[in-house]
Amino acid sequence: MSSSSTDTSVTPALNAPQAPLPQYTSLPPPLKWDPCIRFPDGDVTLVAEGFAFRLHQGMLASQSEVFESWFAGPRLNIPHPHHIGWLDGQPLVALRPFDTAHDFREVLMAIYGVMRLESVTTYSVAAGLRRFAHAYRMTTLADAVHDLLDPTFPTDIHGWDAPSASRVSFDLGAKQAIEAYNLSKFTKDRHALAAVYRCAQLREADLRKGTKRLDGTPEVLAAHDLRTVLKARSLLKQLGARALRESRAIRAVGGPDCVRMRCQEAFGRGILPIKEDAAELANGHVASRWADKEIAWAQRWEMICPRCAEHARAEHLRIREALWEAFARSVGLPQAGSLAG
Ligand SMILES: [Zn+2]
Repeated sequence: MSSSSTDTSVTPALNAPQAPLPQYTSLPPPLKWDPCIRFPDGDVTLVAEGFAFRLHQGMLASQSEVFESWFAGPRLNIPHPHHIGWLDGQPLVALRPFDTAHDFREVLMAIYGVMRLESVTTYSVAAGLRRFAHAYRMTTLADAVHDLLDPTFPTDIHGWDAPSASRVSFDLGAKQAIEAYNLSKFTKDRHALAAVYRCAQLREADLRKGTKRLDGTPEVLAAHDLRTVLKARSLLKQLGARALRESRAIRAVGGPDCVRMRCQEAFGRGILPIKEDAAELANGHVASRWADKEIAWAQRWEMICPRCAEHARAEHLRIREALWEAFARSVGLPQAGSLAG
């Protein structure tokens, strides 16, 4: 580290510090170079959680309104970066204390083209991208990741029923719903409803305890959010019981094959979920297509005629739509399109 001096090679946004900043010729401890991303020809070093990333101001500025304001001039009313010194005459800048190296690393992999967004299948990566992209106003990336997450956070029953092959999954298990809730709340987006729904499937003890992100960062529900989720949980359990009641009330339509197949008798015994589905339904999983499986089974064994099967499937869908709407109305969160992503 040498004494301070004015470096005329830097861009306007990062020069003219209020107080002289330290100059370094090597990375000052305890900072360490990120093991994954470091460009020797970079012209700026950004630090997240003690990891230093040597990068290019032009690339960062082209992707983020915040970085653009830092590196190309303060066009926007965005807090000035924590400019902590000069490294080999180039700016050494710390990101915000709560920006994690994990999230930043994933974003850099995406914008430098090391990782293709279509290849992202885990929520940990998608959430990291979205969290950082939203905070640093990386509109293109934020929108793309939001679209990627749409099938994981449906806004209606048809979304839940869509094929799930390309769906980003919770790599850390069901409790990752808490991370999803906090992210959707932070970004004020239409995923919030499904995030509440997914949280509401968790045990109360887990909701109170919270969880951790892939990099260990704690994710806990704020008191108000915990109340919202517990209320939703209680409502969904009631709706689960209603789903069962209404499904059992489905009756034969009286078509030409009904008598031969004794449809009325089959429906009289009721559409009943198998044990696992019954447990999920009792826990409030009203988006479940459990009755479709029962109807298919009854049809395969010729216990109900095709017309009754079709009718029962339509009734089951109608019931699920009504229950989902009741849930969405009660939770009062934004629905599709009512808030920008
Ligand atoms: Zn029938």
